Amino acid sequence: CGIVGYVGKQTAIPILVEGLKKLEYRGYDSAGVAVLDAQGISVSKSVGKLAALEKEIGENYSQSCIGIGHTRWATHGRPSQVNAHPHGDCGLDFAVVHNGIIENYLELKDQLIEKGHSFVSETDTEVLAHLVEDFYQGDLEAAVRQVLAIIRGSFAMVVLSRKEPGKLVAARKDSPMVVGLGTGEFFVASDITAILNHTRQVYILDDGEMVVIQETGVKITDFAGNPRVKEVMHVKWDA
Ligand code: GLU
Repeated sequence: CGIVGYVGKQTAIPILVEGLKKLEYRGYDSAGVAVLDAQGISVSKSVGKLAALEKEIGENYSQSCIGIGHTRWATHGRPSQVNAHPHGDCGLDFAVVHNGIIENYLELKDQLIEKGHSFVSETDTEVLAHLVEDFYQGDLEAAVRQVLAIIRGSFAMVVLSRKEPGKLVAARKDSPMVVGLGTGEFFVASDITAILNHTRQVYILDDGEMVVIQETGVKITDFAGNPRVKEVMHVKWDA
């Protein structure tokens, strides 16, 4: 339902939680965040309100400066902690948040299980993390492209990987997504309101576009990897 991602120099978790709060009006049944630090990817999830997620996160959370967050409105799999996003692959080398529906997830899931992947949730989303792992050969962007080529349905998704720290890869089709441009920091969100406290300079992604976000900058391409020239939009209204 709602997505927020952050790459920069500030501690990610408070920014992610604050962004998710701005998206609460859209409704949700559970929420979660994933951040990456020297220990790897750590995920916190909770059913119910964001206050429950904040409790789950606690006070001694990772000071990581990169992460992704999600509020879920369940479509596949009941509302539960396990089904809440972010979802990971078996070794938690990758974490994914996703809005929308992967229509061919059952068929993909069967193929992955045959290859030895084991699944923990009932969601359509979890296949995305396992697919990225399956395709990954040293290039996260390339792996995500391969996933985009075989999934059907609607999605806005963001991928975080411990194989390539400092990078988020996101893509959209039939589900909104914006990229926020700060100074030495970048945001990705399903809705501008989630990031308006931090920046008013945004790219509105179009269907069929993906973006690689690093502290050094943002690269937008189509799903085949061809560069897209985008205009920065200056948001004037208040949330
Ligand atoms: N289909 C996914 C799920 O059920 C995403 C739902 C959403 O957009 O929040 O987990």
